[in-house]
Amino acid sequence: MDFFSTSKTLGILGGGQLGKMLLYTTRKWDINTSVLDPSEDAPARLACDKFVKGDLTDFQAVYDFGKKVDVLTIEIEKVNVKALEKLEQEGVKIYPQPHVLKTIQNKCLQKKFYKRHGIPTASFVEFETLDQVKESIIKGDLSFPFVWKSAEMGYDGYGVSIVHSKKEIESLNSGACLIEELVPFEKELSVIVCRRPQGETVHYPVVESEFHPTANQVEYVLCPARISEQAAKKAITVALKTVEAYGQIGLLAVELFLTPEGDVLVNEVAPRPHNSGHFSIEASYTCQFEQHIRAVLDLPLGKTSSKSSAVMVNLVGKQGHTGPVVYKNIDQVLAIEGVIPHIYGKKKTHPFRKMGHVTIIHPKIDIARKMAAKVKETLSVITK
Ligand code: ADP
Repeated sequence: MDFFSTSKTLGILGGGQLGKMLLYTTRKWDINTSVLDPSEDAPARLACDKFVKGDLTDFQAVYDFGKKVDVLTIEIEKVNVKALEKLEQEGVKIYPQPHVLKTIQNKCLQKKFYKRHGIPTASFVEFETLDQVKESIIKGDLSFPFVWKSAEMGYDGYGVSIVHSKKEIESLNSGACLIEELVPFEKELSVIVCRRPQGETVHYPVVESEFHPTANQVEYVLCPARISEQAAKKAITVALKTVEAYGQIGLLAVELFLTPEGDVLVNEVAPRPHNSGHFSIEASYTCQFEQHIRAVLDLPLGKTSSKSSAVMVNLVGKQGHTGPVVYKNIDQVLAIEGVIPHIYGKKKTHPFRKMGHVTIIHPKIDIARKMAAKVKETLSVITK
């Protein structure tokens, strides 16, 4: 493998926190990297060998960047896939493959993919415009409540809305969308799978995510999930089937709903490192970021079991605070044994912006969860 300490280059589209954490591994192994990101202040900037400023959705910017690297990966899905298709035809190794990204970028295509491959998912109807949704309600074909999802602009719950009444429809985006049945799930689970080019696959333990009651954003991730062995087996089987169907190379985070009947449904996937895998930096034998680098460079995959139970807390900007950031009481949190904060390095905060995360390591998951609540209460992301 001639990537180590040579002039061969791994390119990463996106220089946010996920890019920064991918670079911990490339620094450790002295792998040459180049990062493309639109922001001068991208968190990954300091850890890469070369930084290129450019628009990730622009054909020429992505194509020109891709021509100068040997393997290309992503840390964000919203990139120009046409440029990636051309680069792939011209021999650049691109993981995740452009066809995977193309399906995932559009929620309608993604849902139809699950249906076609017999992968369990919530039932849905596709609409080209919001007016068609309204007509469907008038005709009595659609009834409240349901979940509305914008076909193309989703991210961290933006572009997703639980709709209870006609009035709520008015605030939605008018474009193409997906209407899904509202799943009365018991838990939201996630399984991170990683696959090498020849098909060797490993997976992490099933984790559970707890959401903020109003912001539709993950607050806590618990590893392992507090579910039955049978439910965990089902989740892993569904996740492995999903990764095989995509033929994905690199990480695939499979987000799942566990229903009260014990069924497991795929909500959506992310073909990259994922928030639900951050616990792995401290708690797993091989962290998700290193695993992804191993896979995309076609190196042996690492052990995925845990050294300890863990809980991850997202550190997001406090409501009412917009501007230069400070992390109030971080010293108090650092004083607690088994508590490890990660600060992404974004200069400015705004309400609910992901600014960092904290991992809590404790052999007992319930104690780790209580400590996580304490961390959340103590540490706040505010302005100066
Ligand atoms: P995003 O791409 O913005 O992360 P998701 O499709 O993951 O959007 O939806 C965000 C959240 O909305 C989910 O984590 C879940 O809490 C809720 N949600 C999404 N789809 C459904 C559904 N069909 N039934 C119930 N809740 C849902």
